[in-house]
Amino acid sequence: MIYLDHAATTPLDPAALQAMLPWLEGGFGNPASDHAWGHAARAAVERARAQVAALIGAQADEIVWTSGATESNNLALKGALEFRGLRGAHLVTARSEHKSVVDPVRHLEAQGLRVTWLKPDAQGRIAVEQVLAALAPDTALVSLMWVNNETGVINPVEALAPRLRERGILFHVDAVQAAGKLPVDLAHVPIDLLSLSAHKLYGPQGIGALFVRKRPRARLSPQLHGSGHEQGMRSGTLPVHQIAGFGEACRVAAERLASDRERLSALRDRLQRQLQALPGVHLNGDPLQRAPGILNLSFAGVEGESLRASLGDLAVSSGSACSSATREPSYVLRALGRDDELAGASLRFSLGRATGEAEVDQAAARVAQAVRTLRRIAGTEPAAPVAPPHNAHGYSAPVWAAFAAPVHAATLPDGALAGTAGSPAGALRLRLQADLEQGRIARAAFQAYGCPVTIAVGEWLAAWLEGRRPEELRLSAGDLSSVLEISDDKAHCGLLGEDAVLALRRQMSVA
Ligand SMILES: *Cc1c(COP(=O)(O)O)cnc(C)c1O
Repeated sequence: MIYLDHAATTPLDPAALQAMLPWLEGGFGNPASDHAWGHAARAAVERARAQVAALIGAQADEIVWTSGATESNNLALKGALEFRGLRGAHLVTARSEHKSVVDPVRHLEAQGLRVTWLKPDAQGRIAVEQVLAALAPDTALVSLMWVNNETGVINPVEALAPRLRERGILFHVDAVQAAGKLPVDLAHVPIDLLSLSAHKLYGPQGIGALFVRKRPRARLSPQLHGSGHEQGMRSGTLPVHQIAGFGEACRVAAERLASDRERLSALRDRLQRQLQALPGVHLNGDPLQRAPGILNLSFAGVEGESLRASLGDLAVSSGSACSSATREPSYVLRALGRDDELAGASLRFSLGRATGEAEVDQAAARVAQAVRTLRRIAGTEPAAPVAPPHNAHGYSAPVWAAFAAPVHAATLPDGALAGTAGSPAGALRLRLQADLEQGRIARAAFQAYGCPVTIAVGEWLAAWLEGRRPEELRLSAGDLSSVLEISDDKAHCGLLGEDAVLALRRQMSVA
């Protein structure tokens, strides 16, 4: 098992765990209570507040606890615009922001906010001049992430902040992927609102913070109403154990920042070098302006879901629609101008403290092997056959068996008959080939570009064809679905098989 998905979540730092344990093993108290238990809890919370503030060059009383960066982003955007009033307000943000910015902004847009959605360039960058050009007299807020979570690209927020300050425009920054990875110094960068999440920097899940500047004061309307905790900005009893862990994680992150940064940049470059030794591998992002530890590549000539499924125990994040919670190809890569196919065939590798050269080398070898195998099956590049490791993605056992051993994935010599089927846009392709000898199929082969079910259908059909006579080639999508136990949402793969068999039979009757 190799974990290269640290941009999704990180393991808990041992020191952070130690800071949490006393509050889970008998220690307790409501920080709002005025007695010894409450005072002890309050002291732990305030200590952590100072630790979080120190990581980003802020004052402790500028830190507001939240349940995570999703809440921080919602509070910053909705809170600031509700306070100001939506009427006649304009906001500038980018299409490549995290969903927890994009969706609250869309929500506000539906309520009448005017929004300019900036488009990143082909390297995923947003330029200072581009933001300034989008400003209008009624622009109330600019929201831009510091580091993009999919590509690792760094936005020029440090250069932009003073330009917005001099115009009196509030600046919100989602710094989830920057804090603890790059120097963040709010004493010198006039950002007004900044979102953090503990579990992206080796703290516990379910706790985050919003930095709210005191001088000049950034004003927010609360989004959770209650007993008025956190200076009235966010009500709710504070989770002391989570907060203590977050604080300690920030202390450790500050201590390790420089060494982690150097080490992870070198490992990322090593991984990129090894993978780009393959042809047809595209970097999604900017080769220079990027955070350590994140590498996003697209692999031409392979289909995203099959690529993801071939990686077995390698934990990476994929742009493939079928493996993501939202089932749409990465909108961030689409915003960079990648087509659906390349956006789907992308992998994000995000390295962390436990990653070493051995993990990087093994990951690169496994990915290269999967890419070569899938290209061979699709007929986009010849390579030695290798079976993918095991069924980790919920396909039926028969589908997986057929996908894992594509022994018929090769082309037959010229003169073989072929039947081809595909979806109109070319997102799926299946080609069956057969050699007739004395009225029977002596050898059959297939090429497939598509999900593991498409490949399994090709493999199963090639084996099924051998030894049959042309007039025996009758097989329905329903038959395929039952032998391979194809699920309803993959019924189109069965139809593809039926069409390919039909096309082959037509060729044989012509011959
Ligand atoms: C993970 C992430 C978030 C959401 O953080 P949670 O604490 O999980 O809600 C927001 N922005 C970016 C850039 C992220 O990577």
